[in-house]
Amino acid sequence: MTKSNPSPSPIHVIGGGLAGSEAAWQIARRGLPVVLHEMRPVRGTDAHKTDSLAELVCSNSFRSDDAENNAVGVIHAEMRLAGSLIMACADKNQVPAGGALAVDREGFARAVTDAIEAEPLIEIAREEITGLPPHDWDQTIIATGPLTAPGLAEAISAETGQDALAFFDAIAPIIYTESIDMSVCWFQSRYDKVGPGGTGKDYINCPMDKDQYDAFVDALIAGDTTGFKEWEGTPYFDGCLPIEIMAERGRETLRHGPMKPMGLTNAHKPDIKAYAVVQLRQDNALGTLYNMVGFQTKLKYGAQAEIFRLIPGLENAEFARLGGLHRNTYLNSPRLLDGTLQLKSRPGLRFAGQITGCEGYVESSAMGLLAGRFAAADRLGEALAPPPLTSAFGALLNHITGGHIESNDEPGKRSFQPMNVNFGLFPPLEPGAILRPEGGGRFRGKDKAKAKKQAMARRALTDFAAWLEEGPAIRQAAE
Ligand SMILES: Cc1cc2nc3c(=O)[nH]c(=O)nc-3n(C[C@H](O)[C@H](O)[C@H](O)COP(=O)(O)OP(=O)(O)OC[C@H]3O[C@@H](n4cnc5c(N)ncnc54)[C@H](O)[C@@H]3O)c2cc1C
Repeated sequence: MTKSNPSPSPIHVIGGGLAGSEAAWQIARRGLPVVLHEMRPVRGTDAHKTDSLAELVCSNSFRSDDAENNAVGVIHAEMRLAGSLIMACADKNQVPAGGALAVDREGFARAVTDAIEAEPLIEIAREEITGLPPHDWDQTIIATGPLTAPGLAEAISAETGQDALAFFDAIAPIIYTESIDMSVCWFQSRYDKVGPGGTGKDYINCPMDKDQYDAFVDALIAGDTTGFKEWEGTPYFDGCLPIEIMAERGRETLRHGPMKPMGLTNAHKPDIKAYAVVQLRQDNALGTLYNMVGFQTKLKYGAQAEIFRLIPGLENAEFARLGGLHRNTYLNSPRLLDGTLQLKSRPGLRFAGQITGCEGYVESSAMGLLAGRFAAADRLGEALAPPPLTSAFGALLNHITGGHIESNDEPGKRSFQPMNVNFGLFPPLEPGAILRPEGGGRFRGKDKAKAKKQAMARRALTDFAAWLEEGPAIRQAAE
């Protein structure tokens, strides 16, 4: 707070879930007033069951807490460094779960709610916001999550353009490029089409002969989808039918759909025409991730990994994320948001949490933390640089606001899909960053992959700590 502006008007945060609670907390840590608008219990959602802030709607796990080897563990560690309320409450309510951070869900949500209620700078308004915030709310964060109430969702859609807000998540798996066997696969665009910004070699192609195709179709049809929660009225748009449903519709359906071999010549065996081809498309600007084109699925995660590794060239594929299909309201953020999560068409209006196109409790909270800090910096007239790309925060933010490559070559489909944090989003390491084994030599195979992750994790935490150090001083909790 400055002398020229002794009592600034509050920053409004819409949605008291994981992201909104964290955003409000961060703003208060800068000494600024906040109004946190949460519609529950006035209006519920399909998934929430209580009126607590930061309710966990499904699993009670924040996933891996291993900050040395796992990107989720790294973002946990960064959040702790940044004074995250969500992480502090998770740590206090931990239950045993091996290497994962799992919580007593009621204790966790109660701890977040108690902390926010006890914070004098935060006012909680239990009300539904049914349209875009009025213009006199000059700093607002929308953190209404995957189940954003319809009135607000329609208003956002009207502001951003119809195709910029998705209501369904039909996710195809994403694979680490380095785990694809390029002695089997090859780079080529169908009919060598160059297209805008392309080279004619934009896709990775995995060939199948007839026997392999038949075995794959059988595996898809037999694949386990139990446990998939069918939301009322789950729409299967023709453009994003689950792959196993396509397989059920007829043996040849896939061969005439996403697995058609036309216009592709196997660079390793030019004389043999593939019976079917699975195409992978570059997913991030770094080229470290590729998604499986047209492979949205509701198969169980275990079944997906097993079945997709039947594809030639993907026998050892490592998945940055597996496929899924569920209700999810999220923006086409790479097009709409600037590097501080602000709507380009309306400065002062930010988005946070899952609605920005990140996926998961931890990622949503992390984007809430950043949105809160950016909004507070704006209110105080400060410039706050985004966290470095080498940190988990920076890598995820960059993916959402720019790192994803837009590839709208399929009519009616958006290429941007929600993303978990993973090492594939991090920039490559500088030469010499990977430590050598004791006794000299070089790591090989799995040991090399592990050493690489560890080097990325070390770099992330060092660079993130430096970013925090350069940033503004943050009030401690319970002052
Ligand atoms: C069914 C389901 C299961 C999921 N399971 C998992 C899981 O197991 N693990 C995982 O990591 N992630 C899971 N996710 C994904 C995601 O991480 C969580 O949904 C997470 O809670 C997102 O955080 P958020 O803060 O963005 O949204 P939320 O936590 O959903 O918070 C949004 C808040 O906004 C409120 N709100 C909505 N509209 C309005 C409005 N117009 N006015 C005022 N308030 C409003 C809601 O009541 C809610 O409290 C799941 C998602 C869904 C839909």
